[in-house]
Amino acid sequence: MTTKKPALPALPTAKEFCLTVPLYEKFGYDNEADNGFFALEQFEETLDMHCPECGQHSVFLPRKNNYSTNSHYTNYIFSLLFRCSRNASHQALFIFRAHRGVIQKIGQIPALADLAMPDMKKYRPVLGEERFKELSRAIGLTTHGVGVGAFVYLRRIFESLIEEARVRAAKEPSWDEQAYVAGRMADRIVMLERFLPPFLVENRALYSVLSVGVHTLSEEECLAAFPAVRLAIELILDGLLEERERQTKLRSAAQSIAALKGSGGKADA
Ligand SMILES: [Zn+2]
Repeated sequence: MTTKKPALPALPTAKEFCLTVPLYEKFGYDNEADNGFFALEQFEETLDMHCPECGQHSVFLPRKNNYSTNSHYTNYIFSLLFRCSRNASHQALFIFRAHRGVIQKIGQIPALADLAMPDMKKYRPVLGEERFKELSRAIGLTTHGVGVGAFVYLRRIFESLIEEARVRAAKEPSWDEQAYVAGRMADRIVMLERFLPPFLVENRALYSVLSVGVHTLSEEECLAAFPAVRLAIELILDGLLEERERQTKLRSAAQSIAALKGSGGKADA
């Protein structure tokens, strides 16, 4: 009896597999030389990632990759080891298992969430504590392959940022609240055009998934939508951060000018 196996996604690049793919996600391979399996197993390039021990971004150099020439077909375990270019004792290790045509990443250090979160820390001041915690949870969950849960958190953050833009837009005399309430997410994004990053407006079709009830989405659909929603959130936050920096600069400029005038006044007296 032959049962047809469901098709598995093709292997991601070695860099993606190490740095963005959650543990235990399944990919298909076969024993042909040109299907990405060997490119992963014998990967000898650098990895550009956050080093938790340095506390900053670093380039990791390939060290000793552990693979064998034995059968690749059943229970074949191999690993990729890297060291931080700043300090050789800072290591990164990724462990893979190939078994009957399925390859999975079964372990890694540093953890995916530790690689993903540091880049997010800069958003803490504009997000506020509560939303920052939700963002951490969302990223933590997706690094464990939990799609729906991660998506719910991300969606809440996205919607609250859209709501902030609505509050600003609603101050304009031409604002049409009824049309906004009746609109789907893509329509709302268009109405908030002046208050949102251009990328979001141009790619608003990506966000139609946000008008769909979470209960009707599958784990896979949520995981697939995650990067686009996360990117949108980051772009909105980048804009807010820029605005905040601009305001800080303006305030300190105003203070210096006031101080200058003050000391000028004294000199004249
Ligand atoms: Zn380091």
